[in-house]
Amino acid sequence: MKILKTISLSKFFDGLKALNKVNIDVEGKTLTLIIGPNGSGKTTFINTVCGFYKPDDGRVYFLDKDITGLPPNKVYEMGIVRTFQIPQPLKRLTVLENLLIAEKNVEGLLSLRHSSWIKKEEEVVEKAFKILEFLKIDHLWDVESYKLSGGQLKLVEVGRALMTNPKMIITDEPIAGIAPALAHEILERFLDLKKMGITFLIVEHRLDIVMGYVDFVYVMANGEVISKGKPEEVMNDPKVVEVYLGVVE
Ligand code: ADP
Ligand code: MG
Repeated sequence: MKILKTISLSKFFDGLKALNKVNIDVEGKTLTLIIGPNGSGKTTFINTVCGFYKPDDGRVYFLDKDITGLPPNKVYEMGIVRTFQIPQPLKRLTVLENLLIAEKNVEGLLSLRHSSWIKKEEEVVEKAFKILEFLKIDHLWDVESYKLSGGQLKLVEVGRALMTNPKMIITDEPIAGIAPALAHEILERFLDLKKMGITFLIVEHRLDIVMGYVDFVYVMANGEVISKGKPEEVMNDPKVVEVYLGVVE
């Protein structure tokens, strides 16, 4: 079943066609990858789907519901979560705290450091610990996030996403700058989550690592989809070879 579907999605910036009639379908319980040279519109696509940009034309459907132009919080409530880098001030919080404040129904961020608050939220804490265990970072629960490696921080970002019980996780460059072993580790967790029913849409440049994990690939160039298919199909497509030729990412 197609969980996400865009029809002729377009977004213009001062006449620049950042997205030009983009049709992208994401099959449920898959890992779908979008690749393309810098400036091809990948991040704009994600931002438009998630409600951060209003499209100039076209539609977005999620689980057969028209979500075109909905604000980010509404898209999020539908079950689409986009992972974000943890901002600097939140890096002063521990790993566990970073997950707790990502929970949809948690109130009282200001009282986060009060032990009474933690007691009240036992269930949420339990859920957070389960997620940390699953991600194999539970031993880091009490570490302030700024002390973590880049890869560990990425796993915390995934953990924050999981706290919201998402149907779909959208993530922009989840393994950029991460050492290969941990990059594989992150993608392995994505495969586990896929088996548990979560759908992934990811943008990633490190094709050598990511291609072994994905089910379907879209290739963008100049705001358009120029190729799509299984990893081996797109990598052998002359159009794709052409746009990547001489492009050093
Ligand atoms: P990618 O993620 O594939 O590298 P982007 O989606 O970031 O590409 O950008 C696509 C095009 O849209 C680029 O030419 C970029 O300069 C332009 N663009 C992206 N965001 C904005 C914005 N907020 N305002 C103006 N132009 C933008
Ligand atoms: Mg980008």
